[in-house]
Parts: sequence; structure tokens; C-alpha cells
Amino acid sequence: MSLVDRWTQSMMDNYGTPPLGLVRGEGAVVYDESGRSYVDLLGGIAVNVLGHAHPAVVAAVSKQVAALGHVSNLYVAEPPVALAELLLALAGRQGRVFFANSGSEVNEAAFKLSRLTGRTHAVSTQGGFHGRTMGSLALTGQPSKADPFRPLPGEVTHVPYGDVAALDAAVTTETAMVILEPIQGENGVVVPPAGYLAAAREITTAKGALLVLDEVQTGVGRTGHWFAHQADGVEPDIVTLAKGLGGGLPIGACLAFGGAADLFGPGSHGSTFGGNPISCAAALAVISTIANEGLLDHVKRIGERIKTGVEALGHPLVREVRGAGLLLGVVLSAPASGAVAGVLRDAGFLTNPVQPDVLRLAPPLILSADQVDAFLAALPSALDAAS
Ligand code: PMP
Repeated sequence: MSLVDRWTQSMMDNYGTPPLGLVRGEGAVVYDESGRSYVDLLGGIAVNVLGHAHPAVVAAVSKQVAALGHVSNLYVAEPPVALAELLLALAGRQGRVFFANSGSEVNEAAFKLSRLTGRTHAVSTQGGFHGRTMGSLALTGQPSKADPFRPLPGEVTHVPYGDVAALDAAVTTETAMVILEPIQGENGVVVPPAGYLAAAREITTAKGALLVLDEVQTGVGRTGHWFAHQADGVEPDIVTLAKGLGGGLPIGACLAFGGAADLFGPGSHGSTFGGNPISCAAALAVISTIANEGLLDHVKRIGERIKTGVEALGHPLVREVRGAGLLLGVVLSAPASGAVAGVLRDAGFLTNPVQPDVLRLAPPLILSADQVDAFLAALPSALDAAS
């Protein structure tokens, strides 16, 4: 029986029947059960920043699991401390870090932390995605995901993304926090107008609310910066990271700066696996490899190669390519992203129809120019077939 057949009998159908069973990966390439290879332009949904089976991650994880696999948070180990220090150094600011295991959990942590300001109300954005646990789902601005589970915790107002006036009107001196993605990933790689994050900073500062930037999808080099907001020069109170941080191992980090760093105290919050030394060792290897191999510049170059290459096709089904670095959305002029992704898969490229009219690319940051050119060569016939 194939992996997909076994899946249909044993696993809850939360994601729709998967088209492929994958058994192995190397670099930016994955292999299915029949041995067919695919260029992985989705990267585990922005997770596998160094691709699959990267030697630095394999070595770091192997070494750590053989040395000290787990300690409870009643004790301390080197990898989480070193990772916290490194993340704060990359942010270039004083602060403190709380580790958990996923994006939902670190947004949950930020939400709880904001309650300790004594305020309760949160402002988020329509279309924004912050997770699926009950608190993070309350922050998520996608009714299709949230409505079946109401009532949700929290008093959350969702304002149109990118609209400074709407944000200003919604944030009051009672607002505990504003949470935003620098680019809305799940909503279809939606980029806000220039100056939006800076305006959000001004508004939250003026009203004494915390500014939380959800960099779960945009962080760790994805946009060609360690954190996407660094391109805007803003200083948020809290940054949440997950996805790419562990290069494939589960880890999330909630970075808090200034006064926000001291809101959690003993007993405030916790996570059994948060700060697990193996995940933290993987994250340390991911960050040092990005730095040592100059991957931030590579991301900018390769992202631009995809963007200009797709635009140069001049295909009528392509309206625009948006995003930054290697978080890109190919916006179609018709709701055909599923069809395009299907044809591309058959041609050996994994992409993601994140919205009916948006094909998302979030490949490993190590994607090569040759792999981009192969994708650009395969794309026209996939677009033709879906037109
Ligand atoms: N925030 C953002 C911006 C995300 O893209 C995601 C995942 N798509 C999450 C939070 C939730 O992360 P997780 O699935 O790891 O809980």
C-alpha cells in the first residue's frame, strides 16, 4: 500500500488527501516513493531554510542528541542560552527570549504576555494568520478558520491590513497589543504599503500598546534580512519566530525587548519542550550557516531572479509577482493556482496554491540559480495548461 493510501486510513483528514508520499530529501530536492525527484519550492512551508539533510544541521543534531537530549526548564543547558543570546544579537537589541515549539505557541505567549500589562484588548489584521490554537486563532483574521470554533478567547479587533487610518482608529489607550505580519504569508503573500510598520510603531507607542511582529514566516533570512522588519528600521516590542528557525526541527521563539522583556515572571507561562537542546542546536547551526555562507545576499539575488524571470514571461495568466526575498506570491488573473501547482508537480516542482489566485513560493534559502532557471523553463506550459 502506498504512503498516501495508508494516510487515508490512519490520519485525520485535516489537510485534504495529499498528492505525494515523500521519502527522502537532499538540498532543495525531495524524492517520492517511486524515486521521482522534485525541486522543493515550498520548503516545508518556509521551514527548511537550509533544504533537506543539510550537513550542518545533521551534525549539530547528532552531536546534541548524543550529549544531552532534553532538560526540563527547571535546569538550564547551553544551546537555549546560546540561541537566545544569538537571536538578541541579530536583533541588535537588549531583551529576553521565551522558547516554545511552534508559531501558534509563540503568538499565544505574546498574547498572554500582553495581558500582563493590565490591558486586555488586542488589535490584529484581516487576513492575518497567527496560528490555530484558541488564542492564536482569535488573533488570526481569517473567518473560515476561526468561525467554526467561536467563541474564541480574547477581545480582538481585526482591521484591514495596510490601512494606517483604520489601525489608528482601532488602537486605544486600552489596547494591550497590536499584532502584524511584515508580509501576510497565508493570506497570499500580501505586502503592505511602504511605511506601514513604521506607522504601526508610532501608533502603538503613542497609545502605550505593545507592537508584536509575527515573523514566524518572514523571519530567519526568508526576506534577505534576519528579520523582515529590519528592512523598515522599526523596533517592535515583541518578535515571534518559528518555521525556519530550527531548519526542520520544531522550535518557536518569542523575543521581547525593553519593558516587555520583564512582563513574564516565575510561574507566568511555560512549555515542557520549549528550549529543547536538540531543536536549539539545530537553530544555532541554521543561523551560523546562513551567516557563514552569505545566504542573506543569496536570498535577495535568487528571489529577484525568480521575480524578474516570471515577470519576463509576460504570460497573460500572471498579474504580478509580489513578496520579498524568497517569500514570493505569483498572483494570477484567474483562480487557477491549484491547476498550475498540479501541472508543476507533474513536471517535478513543488509549489503551494496558498490562495485560489496566488501560487506561493517559499523555497529553501539555498535554492540555486540553475534550479530557478529550470522552474522558469517549466512554468509557461503549466500556466498554459491552467489558462
Ligand atoms: N504565524 C504565521 C505568520 C504563520 O505563517 C504561521 C503558520 N503558517 C503561524 C503563525 C502558525 O505557526 P504553526 O503552524 O507553527 O503553529
